[in-house]
Amino acid sequence: MRNFPYWLEVELLTGDTKSKLPTQNGITIIGSGLSGVSAGYWLQKKGFDDITILDFKPHEAASYRNCGHILYGTVESMKAFTSLHGFEKAKELWGYSIQICHQVRETIKELKLEADYKQDGYLVISIDETEDKECKESVELLNKAGFESSYIASDEIKKLGFKNCFGARHEKGSAQAHPVKFRNGLLKEFLKNGGKYYSDVEVTHLQEVSDGVEIKTKRGNIKCDAVVIAANAYSKLFSPFFAQRGLVEPFRGQIITSHPLKHQFKVKHPHSFDHGYEYALITEDNRLMIGGWRNHSETKEVGTFDITPNPYIEKGLQEFAERHYEISEKINWQYTWAGIMGSSSTSLPFIGPTNSDRIFSCSGYTGHGFSWAHGSALLLAQIMAGEETSDVAKYFNPKQLK
Ligand SMILES: Cc1cc2nc3c(=O)[nH]c(=O)nc-3n(C[C@H](O)[C@H](O)[C@H](O)COP(=O)(O)OP(=O)(O)OC[C@H]3O[C@@H](n4cnc5c(N)ncnc54)[C@H](O)[C@@H]3O)c2cc1C
Repeated sequence: MRNFPYWLEVELLTGDTKSKLPTQNGITIIGSGLSGVSAGYWLQKKGFDDITILDFKPHEAASYRNCGHILYGTVESMKAFTSLHGFEKAKELWGYSIQICHQVRETIKELKLEADYKQDGYLVISIDETEDKECKESVELLNKAGFESSYIASDEIKKLGFKNCFGARHEKGSAQAHPVKFRNGLLKEFLKNGGKYYSDVEVTHLQEVSDGVEIKTKRGNIKCDAVVIAANAYSKLFSPFFAQRGLVEPFRGQIITSHPLKHQFKVKHPHSFDHGYEYALITEDNRLMIGGWRNHSETKEVGTFDITPNPYIEKGLQEFAERHYEISEKINWQYTWAGIMGSSSTSLPFIGPTNSDRIFSCSGYTGHGFSWAHGSALLLAQIMAGEETSDVAKYFNPKQLK
């Protein structure tokens, strides 16, 4: 197997690595993944100019190492989400997540991006009776809240080509896209509109000073009017606000992808198993892409920034595929890779000003950043532009965590 993300077969556009960095500028965005480029895109739309994006080791970002799912909700099922937040708040947040997911579709349409976007649904497949019960209860809660969702019984799931599974929840409106194509498309728009972009600039510290923010980097310091932290799991490495509060902690996710298969999959759209611990997709060229299994590792893959794939997880994923897919041909695995996600201490992202009114956060997606980053960046741009925002914004306000 090749240690390389399938998605990065499409070349990632990266920034200037040679020129001297500006010592002074307007808004600096730290991170060029889905959050960073989306923040740049939306801030320009709100009329800000003089925006600079910085990144470090850009190819390692989770944004190009995910499974391409753009899913309603968050990492929890509606049942778990309701237990965590109560029905009314869960309903409000779920509704907002739908808007956020649809924003990806709207932007792709507006910019006419070739990003392999398909709004073809999502199946949450249970692999034991307890999960099956939770699936049914989640469908009931979603329907009660007025959202479209349906339960599919185990015999139907079997007919769809899965084995050793129970029933599933079906979500019609969830989607998928090619993360590198989407991100590159947004970045091109940002650069076309005068945005600046420097790669391989390691930010080591941030602090508010009398009339701005000072960013310390290994290529020199930058003074700017405002900063957007769009580094998700990595934010704590240079932001004392994130480090001191333990807001977003790193954990490693891992994916393997097969050679193109002859097998005709009945379900090609995003699907997951075992409370979302395994997640999968059939690529445009008919490969099985499957990730997860970290809950079976001794460390749960928590607290690391190392993106070397773990062989124990690779093996677990291969065996999982054999156990749960009815595929007659032998599967040869071609790609393996890992990436670092950020787990939020509140289970929700942090969007808005931090303890400094010049340092903003757009981070903390707990494994759902392809779904959440683009719309979250729009919310941040609205906040920075002083616009009225949706009432749910209060749940993401980093200031609540003083
Ligand atoms: C295996 C895996 C599967 C996933 N599957 C899905 C999925 O199917 N659907 C979904 O919605 N989400 C999924 N996710 C999560 C999703 O990919 C992330 O939440 C999302 O990409 C986060 O985007 P981001 O731009 O905020 O952060 P990242 O993509 O992690 O980008 C961080 C940025 O910060 C920069 N940076 C870091 N440190 C520094 C520094 N010191 N100085 C300067 N720059 C720095 C990096 O260069 C990078 O540009 C998955 C993640 C993984 C790893």
